[in-house]
Amino acid sequence: MSGGTSTPAGPGDVTYRCPVEGVKGRRVPAGGQTAFCALEVTGVRKTFEAEQAPIRALRGADLVVRDGEFVAIMGPSGCGKSTLLNLVAGLDVPDDGTISVAGQPLAGMAEDDLARMRRRHIGIVFQFFNLLEGMTVLENVALPAVIAGRSRRGAESRGRDLLDLLVVADKAASMPPSLSGGQRQRLAIARALANDPTLLLADEPTGSLDSEGGQEIMELLRRLHAGGQTILMVTHNPQVAAVASRLVSMRDGRMEGSGP
Ligand code: ADP
Ligand code: MG
Repeated sequence: MSGGTSTPAGPGDVTYRCPVEGVKGRRVPAGGQTAFCALEVTGVRKTFEAEQAPIRALRGADLVVRDGEFVAIMGPSGCGKSTLLNLVAGLDVPDDGTISVAGQPLAGMAEDDLARMRRRHIGIVFQFFNLLEGMTVLENVALPAVIAGRSRRGAESRGRDLLDLLVVADKAASMPPSLSGGQRQRLAIARALANDPTLLLADEPTGSLDSEGGQEIMELLRRLHAGGQTILMVTHNPQVAAVASRLVSMRDGRMEGSGP
């Protein structure tokens, strides 16, 4: 499994070792931040057509997430959080504004390049897991790497490593419905990490879990961040947001404190 970056260590650099050994081990300069932006969102607008009146879901959203940060976006239901994550993941396109992931603007990218960029840089976790119920746990976690062009053997080997680290190793042959909620979300996170993404996106990752399952996931995200994983999470739960290293408030389609 890969770890670290290719750039040589500078003076004062600190190597953060992931407590979940082997998942991630990125070098971050002293102070914990690099100039490298995992994500840059500038003036993003998105309006949905609706029967009554158009819904202005995003009204000039701005956000920067630096490499190694764990940012939580908090805001009430309907303020545009999921819309923003979907745009960042390249699942939908903004009407206006720019989104760059790992320094590359998504706008104008050809479909193939966008797909490649998504596979390489983005892992996404949803509230309701979105697991493939008819596939085993191992097949679920190996799938993104197979799609990215790895051999099935290579993908399953990486998948087993992730399962050892994040879920329960003895569940590899089980079907997702036999797992607890917390385990299902751990599996979803393992799958999101399959291609070692620059940015892990999480949309209300504890939203459908009981408090024990929610704690499990918060602890896992905290450990992944300590190991160098860059994370952007959205939630409307202040307790969940507290696990992040930086909090951004969102209201009515933009970040609070920005714009009129
Ligand atoms: P949040 O995740 O913060 O709860 P969303 O981003 O899901 O908010 O939604 C923001 C607004 O946009 C809401 O009013 C929602 O109903 C609307 N919306 C989201 N997606 C769509 C869509 N595909 N079509 C129409 N309206 C949508
Ligand atoms: Mg939402």
